Amino acid sequence: MLRVYNTLARKKVIFKPKEKGLVRMYVCGPTVYGPAHIGHARTYVAFDIIRRYFEWKGFEVKLVVNITDVHDDMIRVANEQGKTIFELSKQYTELFFKDMKALKVKEASVYPKVSREIPDIIETIKLLEKKGYAYATEDGLYFDISRFKGYGKLSGIKPKQSITGTRVETDKYDKRQAHDFALWKKVKPNEPFWDSPWGPGRPGWHIECTTMSSKYLGLPLDIHCGAVDLVFPHHENEIAQSEAAYGTKPFVKYWLHTGFLTINAQKMSKSLGNYITVPELLSRIDPNVFRFFIAVRHYRSRVDYSDFAIEQAKNALQRLNDFIQRLYAVEHNNFSNEATNALKLAKKEFEKAMDDDFNTPLAWKVIFTLENKINIMLGKGILAKNNAKEIIAFFKDINSIFEVFETDKKTEDIPQECLEMIMQREKLRKEKRFEEADDLRAKLAAKGIAVFDTPQGPQWKKITTNSKDSKV
Ligand code: AMP
Ligand code: ZN
Repeated sequence: MLRVYNTLARKKVIFKPKEKGLVRMYVCGPTVYGPAHIGHARTYVAFDIIRRYFEWKGFEVKLVVNITDVHDDMIRVANEQGKTIFELSKQYTELFFKDMKALKVKEASVYPKVSREIPDIIETIKLLEKKGYAYATEDGLYFDISRFKGYGKLSGIKPKQSITGTRVETDKYDKRQAHDFALWKKVKPNEPFWDSPWGPGRPGWHIECTTMSSKYLGLPLDIHCGAVDLVFPHHENEIAQSEAAYGTKPFVKYWLHTGFLTINAQKMSKSLGNYITVPELLSRIDPNVFRFFIAVRHYRSRVDYSDFAIEQAKNALQRLNDFIQRLYAVEHNNFSNEATNALKLAKKEFEKAMDDDFNTPLAWKVIFTLENKINIMLGKGILAKNNAKEIIAFFKDINSIFEVFETDKKTEDIPQECLEMIMQREKLRKEKRFEEADDLRAKLAAKGIAVFDTPQGPQWKKITTNSKDSKV
């Protein structure tokens, strides 16, 4: 039975979607005024693994990821660069899609953009106004959190007390409560704007997710996701707006939040010079290694990125890829019950771990334990081709969740000259000229190629240093 940690309930609960077999999932998307960074990559890869796990379990997943293309930061950057926000967002939305594809993050069903949803956003704000949750100030329209009784239930943050009948001048905008937030912002010079009943302007940040999630998924949503930084105020405000406007309680059945990514134990920031964009990341690191680095960590944990941690991930993944290739090389037929049982146990334990709030660290422990056991059997020569096939099928199967392995049999690209030496050696062996054949094998080894003989003929492999496989 699948259980998920619901931030709102502050505990793991049994997952039961509103509609049997269908998961309606909303992930807060990027603000597209620059390239995505590796913190974004962490969050989107982690939720991609969760989405893929649902699919692996047989659920259909309808995923919505919004694109925030109207935002204060966008306006600032567009003005700095002498561009319109539309030029800026076009450039970085395209780059975002390219980066996600390179990171093998599966596409969402819909990517709604704020700039195209303004009429619906206005309708949501009108609803809030009609129900008495909104008030006007000089610079726009605000949500009155004192009208919403459950404010703070997600984050645990208590709204600052308001004094009835008076106004607390918390800032220049003359809000009633410090935590009141903008639903509509009146236009200022050099800003893009849309017409509205409250004058020309643009929506506040939070209202976009309230509007788009209900429009594209229907209420209540099964899962709403984002990194932990969004719990307050963004998700808290989404709850207030959505439950106030539409009356569906709860707005979301399960709130899932990823931990933050830091770099060498520091917060990533441009001023600290430790800011890594996804294009930079992908110029340095194989996307499979990055995905593996994320996959072996729990989605709720903080992730610390460092060269050392990436090197560790690379080596561990290489070990598993080499293992898969070793399995392909098994040719004999001494079927092993021991191997079948080890695989059966691994499958069971794997699903149990993943069902426990996507406990990927434990799931990977199960995979490495299996690899260890099977490697011992391989060493003893007690693994049949059929066993190997079953294990390869298992790796292919879980790769549909993680997308990290190279699961196809590799035919290694080696120089023509070496290929000829291998053929020559085979000829010598058939002629029982074993000493000369061994001589050629040694020469090939010196060139970094290991040859091993199978009933189907010679097989070969490039030797990777420190790899067990180099001994094959
Ligand atoms: P933004 O473009 O800042 O609106 O963020 C888009 C998504 O990435 C949100 O779910 C954020 O919570 C998440 N995010 C931003 N920075 C980080 C980080 N350093 N680590 C993990 N997730 C992040
Ligand atoms: Zn959002």
